[in-house]
Amino acid sequence: MATTGVREFQNYIGGEWVGAASGETFESTSPADGETIGVFPKSAAEDVDRAVAAAKAAYEDWRLVPAPKRGEILFRFAQLLVEAKDELTELMTHEMGKVWAEAGGDVQEAIDMSYYMGGEGRRLFGQTTPSELRDKFQMSVRMPIGVIGVITPWNFPIAIPSWKIAPALVAGNTVVFKPATDTPALGQRFVELLDEAGVPKGVVNVVHGGGGAVGERLVAHPDVRVISLTGSRETGVRVLQAAAEGLKHVHLELGGKNAIIVMEDADLDIAVDGIVWSAFGTSGQRCTAASRVIAHESVYGELATRIVERAEAMRLGPGWEDDTDVGPVINKPALEKIHSYTEIGQGEGAELLTGGEIAADGDLAKGFYYRPTVFGGVEPDMRIAQEEIFGPVLSLISVKDEAEAVRVSNGIRYGLSSSIFTRDVNRAFRALRDLEAGITYVNAGTIGAEVHLPFGGTKDTGNGHREAGQAALDVFTEWKSVYVDYSGTLQRAQIDNT
Ligand code: NAD
Repeated sequence: MATTGVREFQNYIGGEWVGAASGETFESTSPADGETIGVFPKSAAEDVDRAVAAAKAAYEDWRLVPAPKRGEILFRFAQLLVEAKDELTELMTHEMGKVWAEAGGDVQEAIDMSYYMGGEGRRLFGQTTPSELRDKFQMSVRMPIGVIGVITPWNFPIAIPSWKIAPALVAGNTVVFKPATDTPALGQRFVELLDEAGVPKGVVNVVHGGGGAVGERLVAHPDVRVISLTGSRETGVRVLQAAAEGLKHVHLELGGKNAIIVMEDADLDIAVDGIVWSAFGTSGQRCTAASRVIAHESVYGELATRIVERAEAMRLGPGWEDDTDVGPVINKPALEKIHSYTEIGQGEGAELLTGGEIAADGDLAKGFYYRPTVFGGVEPDMRIAQEEIFGPVLSLISVKDEAEAVRVSNGIRYGLSSSIFTRDVNRAFRALRDLEAGITYVNAGTIGAEVHLPFGGTKDTGNGHREAGQAALDVFTEWKSVYVDYSGTLQRAQIDNT
């Protein structure tokens, strides 16, 4: 049963906890059992404007705080996350619906990211380079940009805010954060802990509310220099269009339609484990979830039988129960969308091997549960093999050889994660070269990124940026090149260089 109780939450603007100017509110409810998690301000443009003004004012001092000191605050934040890990994990099982181990992993990712970015406080490396002229010194330095608008989805409610806010802060920017309306309590706890860690007033602000009222104003606000958004492709396109007029930097992490290739020489035991974990973990609601398996025809049959067996053995339930394998999906529209793809798949002629139904027996009826679903005989161009379903639905595709496998894997609009199971090192390296994706795993599923390597995708998964690792700093800083001439004369580059 629910344990978190109902609490009234507020926006955090300029170091003050305040309601929406309109006084309006919305509720966050659990997808697992319908419990009310909390009541939140339903904010609008006026609230965003106040938060941006607070962030703009705070920037003037924060950018001058030495980066190692900013990093120390992130170290303290990481430590507070460690101490709050169980509490946040439990809240996540209620508010977002992930099972316990995965919710703990989500928090752990934020801990890792905060420690990593805390360390950047003593790096933020630039370059020095020789000059073509005598008695001249030159270097490049990373500069903060200003106020960053952070807009996040619900599926990694603690990890994704950390991917954006930790690098933004260590680089000297200030932040206005709009958490997803399905997971506002987790967004709020994230900011409460930042506050406790010693982030000065106005440096991080949170404004709750919808993508229309809050998100769109954040994107349109002239004082917001960077928008960092993780969400669907459709939202990404709208944000990019809206940001064009103000020539804002836009960092987009969008959808995926990731595939696992299983060649005839694969270790099938590991492949099945990797497929089940990647397809049904987080109820298929990871941007890196595997929603396609591309199997060599000689192993297709055995693989299909084993995946179906495993899918049918999975227990659905609330994430806080020890024996739950698959939690709920996020909300009713998501459940309905997922179910509509079962009808689409059958209509396209794919064979429903298992699942394909809403699970509503007993207490499951209180939440939004969908049975792990596997389609066989899927053709690469079917909608179920092309569109992001974002639920526990897997399409199995049979191919004749490695070239066809790579072609099918690449034959989608997205390019986030990819995977190949093979024991042949030559084949593995060809796949590393040829798979059009930001991430490729060999002999592992499509999930499992670590915070110190770049994270993101090619093609419609984004717009060329990366989260995590050193690459994240490129989103939240701009380069300045510095030239110091100590020759005592006016030397002209490209001219006086003989
Ligand atoms: P979504 O696009 O519906 O919402 C994402 C965020 O954008 C929310 O906070 C929402 O309120 C806000 N938003 C919506 N419309 C907006 C607008 N017009 N202007 C500004 N903000 C707006 O996505 P979701 O359902 O929350 O998340 C699922 C999607 O996120 C999936 O497509 C998934 O693949 C993607 N995702 C991608 C990654 C990645 O790193 N590539 C990671 C996680 C999730």
